[in-house]
Amino acid sequence: MSYVHFALTAKLIMNMHDLNNERAEEIRRVPVVYRTRDGFKLVSEAVAVSGVILKRYHFVNFIQQLMNVQQRNKICLACSRFEGIRLIPTRVDDKDVAAWLSAKDEEVRRYREVTGRNESEIIQCPGEDLHGFLRERPPARRESLVHFSWMLPTYVESIYEETGTTTPFLVVQHTRVIKNIPEEAGRELRELQMPYPRAYGNGIFGFSSIVHLEHVGYSFTEAKRSNNVSDDEVKERRRVAILAYTPIVTGLAGATLARALPSCKPLEVVAYVAPSSPISIPSPSHPIYDDYVEQNVKMYKSFANLFKTKITVIGYGVKLEEGREKNFEVKLVKELYDVFAEALRELGLETT
Ligand SMILES: [Zn+2]
Repeated sequence: MSYVHFALTAKLIMNMHDLNNERAEEIRRVPVVYRTRDGFKLVSEAVAVSGVILKRYHFVNFIQQLMNVQQRNKICLACSRFEGIRLIPTRVDDKDVAAWLSAKDEEVRRYREVTGRNESEIIQCPGEDLHGFLRERPPARRESLVHFSWMLPTYVESIYEETGTTTPFLVVQHTRVIKNIPEEAGRELRELQMPYPRAYGNGIFGFSSIVHLEHVGYSFTEAKRSNNVSDDEVKERRRVAILAYTPIVTGLAGATLARALPSCKPLEVVAYVAPSSPISIPSPSHPIYDDYVEQNVKMYKSFANLFKTKITVIGYGVKLEEGREKNFEVKLVKELYDVFAEALRELGLETT
């Protein structure tokens, strides 16, 4: 088997609100150590978005885009509701879940049939195939083929000196105003009037990601390609797995997308593409570091040289020398989405 990889780094200006809420009243802040001109600097509270949240939105984009193509019928009941990762157990003690699972409904019956079996049957659903799953009973699991780093802020000296953090943030109290709450209204309705906090943060953020496309449609537990996923379906899943990144590089990910958008400007987006590597390629250096693009180019160039394998770097918004040397090539594109179009072409995944 040879490895097929698509890796990505992105740097974007984000003025965001609640993008990373994992609890109702809090924007996520973490300590980050930076390497600066003067050595190392600790920023104890930097606004950050966990890789789990980015992965969640990649999953949603992936399923949404597959709903428009032929294999939409293979999307399972849970994934079609964007509830991925944890499969509903097929043997349960809970009365309500047991009743639901034994319902006559055809969709439920099929879900039960598929998720109750082995990995090669479960991954006929593209959601479990690409993003993995965990089933408690009977026990079964599959690792995700998609990995995301945290979205972390880069170090901007002037912002740090002015505010003491790389990502100024603010928690604002909002009040819901409901006209005419009747006297007899219940406690629940009256409480809707109460103030609630909302968090805002901004900064220049970056993340990295890698997707192991060679294992699409492949069962690890049976060490073979699944008979339940055709060659055409594998190709389509690989193509859509790359396209599912496109909303994320424009900031479209987060808890309040139902009614709001973060303000975002993509600055640098770089894809690293390996169509046929003998081993797994390393994941790219994170945009949190100033020289990440140069570091990545050097690392992948030496990797391509060592393993005699082809790697192409496709850059938007970065200063790099274009050119080709043996198996290694650097291409620059002028438009953001051309990064993805070029990557699909390099991997032979474009549609006609
Ligand atoms: Zn599914």
